[in-house]
Amino acid sequence: MPAILVHGGAGPTSPDDDVAAAEAGCQSAAKAGHAVLSEGGSALDAVEAAVRALEDDPHFNAGTGSVLNAEGVIEMDASLMDGTTLSAGAVAGVRTVANPISLARAVMERSPHVLLAGPGADAFARRRGFPEVDPQSLVTPRARRRFEARRQDTHGTVGAVAVDAQSRLAAATSTGGTNGKLPGRVGDTPLIGCGTCADSRLGAASATGVGEYIIRLTLTRRLLDLLDRGQAPGVALDACLAEVVRLGGEAGLILALPDGRLAWARSTARMPVSWVTSSGQAGAAFSGPRAVLLP
Ligand code: ASP
Repeated sequence: MPAILVHGGAGPTSPDDDVAAAEAGCQSAAKAGHAVLSEGGSALDAVEAAVRALEDDPHFNAGTGSVLNAEGVIEMDASLMDGTTLSAGAVAGVRTVANPISLARAVMERSPHVLLAGPGADAFARRRGFPEVDPQSLVTPRARRRFEARRQDTHGTVGAVAVDAQSRLAAATSTGGTNGKLPGRVGDTPLIGCGTCADSRLGAASATGVGEYIIRLTLTRRLLDLLDRGQAPGVALDACLAEVVRLGGEAGLILALPDGRLAWARSTARMPVSWVTSSGQAGAAFSGPRAVLLP
């Protein structure tokens, strides 16, 4: 039976957290992804559907609701990976698409490349028929307030991992990045092996947290490598987060395993998650236990 787990970003709790909205947004994204799986869709289709739902939800820092860079402009990053073919697609610093995750998929399937960045990625979107959106239309009042307050905490990146009925795994991650980032800054989210990694023999993982630490540790690749060396999922997740914390950062990780189990762990106070397990159990959490392995 297929399973899916989504996250809505690791970070500190903050006064403008809307816990109910974050949980509800994650739940409907997990449901959207699971509907794809139930109809026989692939894990790749499911994670794309789940992340699109989160990008469209203004409560998250991805697509609509993305944070602003130091010039008050949105620059979005996204990637996804098919764990069976090890195909991957990613975009960095895009401004004019509503759903960067689908543009990342187009890079994977409709270009010879893995990662397109900046104006080239936006131009590719036009050539592939993605409607041009006014970047201002993606800016929410909350993102504007966070920008004006110069908030440094990261928050609200989204991701999904899934296993389908054929035991194929996939992972996807999307973000507006960090509030007030320098124009041109690229985080971990569009970098395969950092924010996103999938290998159907080992697992599918999506990371969130301060990208500058996640990149240096190639965090999701590291997690899959530890599993490959025989570490138990909980031990491998703890070891990855311990490395982030040792460097002075913070992060969260979600993981799907080839046998359908789902797991997450975070070093932060909060990381909204929602899931549907291989036995059909659905749930959501905002804070609660920092590490969980679901059967
Ligand atoms: N990892 C994202 C970035 O650094 C931010 C986040 O996860 O909140 O761009």
